[in-house]
Amino acid sequence: MEFATFADRAGTIDAEPADLEIVAHVRELLAEAGDDLEIVARFAQGRVFPAWDSTTLDIGPNACYEAIARAAGTNVSAGDVEDRLAAVGEIGDVAASYDFGGQRGLSAFTGGGGAGSESEGTGGDLTVREVSDTLEEVAAAEGSGSQDRKVDLLFGLFNRCSSEEARYLARIVLSEMRIGVGEGAVRDAIAEAFDVPAERVERALQVSNDYGQVARIAREEGLEGLDAMDLEVGRPVQAMLAQAGTVTDALEEWEEAGVEWKYDGARVQLHHDPAGSGGATAETRVFSRNMEEVTDALPEVVEFAADHLEEPAILDGEVVAIDADGSPLPFQEVLKRFRRKHDVAKAREAVSVRPVFFDCLHAGGDDLLAEPLTTRHDRLRSVLVDSTVDSGAVDDEDIEGLSLLWRTDDPEEIESIDADALEAGHEGIMLKDPDSTYSPGRRGKHWRKRKPDVETLDCVVTGAEWGEGRRATFLGTFELSVRAGDDLETVGKVATGITDEKLAELTELLEPHVAAEEGQDVDLEPAVVFEVGYEEIQSSPTYSSGYALRFPRFQGVRPDKDPADADSLERLERLRG
Ligand code: AMP
Repeated sequence: MEFATFADRAGTIDAEPADLEIVAHVRELLAEAGDDLEIVARFAQGRVFPAWDSTTLDIGPNACYEAIARAAGTNVSAGDVEDRLAAVGEIGDVAASYDFGGQRGLSAFTGGGGAGSESEGTGGDLTVREVSDTLEEVAAAEGSGSQDRKVDLLFGLFNRCSSEEARYLARIVLSEMRIGVGEGAVRDAIAEAFDVPAERVERALQVSNDYGQVARIAREEGLEGLDAMDLEVGRPVQAMLAQAGTVTDALEEWEEAGVEWKYDGARVQLHHDPAGSGGATAETRVFSRNMEEVTDALPEVVEFAADHLEEPAILDGEVVAIDADGSPLPFQEVLKRFRRKHDVAKAREAVSVRPVFFDCLHAGGDDLLAEPLTTRHDRLRSVLVDSTVDSGAVDDEDIEGLSLLWRTDDPEEIESIDADALEAGHEGIMLKDPDSTYSPGRRGKHWRKRKPDVETLDCVVTGAEWGEGRRATFLGTFELSVRAGDDLETVGKVATGITDEKLAELTELLEPHVAAEEGQDVDLEPAVVFEVGYEEIQSSPTYSSGYALRFPRFQGVRPDKDPADADSLERLERLRG
């Protein structure tokens, strides 16, 4: 397909406000793409590479401005392009505003877009394949002088563009296509163009993350071909996402909730093939939540795979930073490791990481996306246990790298799992529908991170406990009270949502107000007010107010408030309803 034709169709789509019409235009575009179908399906979304591929052009916007400036003529500089961008606001409009015709013939000196074209000029002869091939060359250029080479290649392309071609080339180069073609539009257009059901296209997209390949297979092999597409070990899948939710809602909607600890780390998807594609050595790749490859930054995960996985598998989990005792460190620590490209061994000495897996998308040749969570978790267990021990009779706690999954309809049990998670230094809990399938890329109701869902309360801190182990010098587990006339009555204790750094700060703030101490228990003079979130207010004999906050969470200190300004028992009763 001529790149001019693509640019013309993209212009029509760009001008179209109605979603249905956009799908119809994309359908036509795919239908006329011929041999370039894969490229056109990607370009329509502004992608040069498949969604699973973390390859980038590896250029900054300046390289693009420079290439446009050179193609625009000797009197235009990259700074002029940037100024025009500041005035106009959009790179496509900027690129389209120059006349590249003055450069006729120059592309011969620069490789002519990498495709050895014979006819240079002002548009009309460039094909989408040439654009794609050249952009691949741009991406592949590495090492010294590569930035200049990239600019040369881009210049070669712009130099052959008409205004409209330049508009869409610039947008593709800077990943700013924005013509309103989302993933759903391409899915529907593929379904309509090649007469296959949209939900089967969707499944094929989920397993492959390659719109180009799915479009081609839909056209060439139809439904049968699409259904035969499977996950591939080594090709990342979009991560299933969670939304915020409460225990109360989860238990109302599902008969039982799956409950897991929520680890405060970074999402990882581990792909491991013990035989490797060449048959000799294992192949392991690790991807981030956005399908970016992070294998080299996380040698511990690669080692984990080599030690624990005996069959090809795709596992979903979290990588957590740990201290010398193996206790979790705050999220900020994992960030020091996660995307690191240099000095990985040195960084590893300072902070080590450990993977914990909570899902299994593929094992031993079976795709498991359509299986319920409980089946996937059983499979995860067996993938990990097989290599850990010979006997099947082993406690889940003893299986390295396995995130435990409880199933319960008992709120008390959930509360105690939450308390254990916090005690062990984790973030809290995740609630999952035990029957749900794995929906890549979806932020659905099937996975919920628990959060307080009601108004916060300002409570006076009237007691605390000295911590243990690593936290022995910190006050923690703060006793909370509300005003009742001239007195203060207790409503609960908060130990949740507080980092070590914060604990140190709070200890400094509260220590001058210690009134009495016995063992780990500390009485505090009323002086400091905490804002706390919670899920519910319950009647309870445990606290002197007669109520208890369910799942209280620390939100912050209220330095602007005195104990006299804290919330009252009346407000608590009103909030309880
Ligand atoms: P958030 O990042 O706050 O939207 O919470 C969702 C994230 O929590 C996921 O993307 C994971 O990275 C992380 N997470 C930690 N533990 C779990 C778990 N047991 N199940 C699922 N996600 C988890």
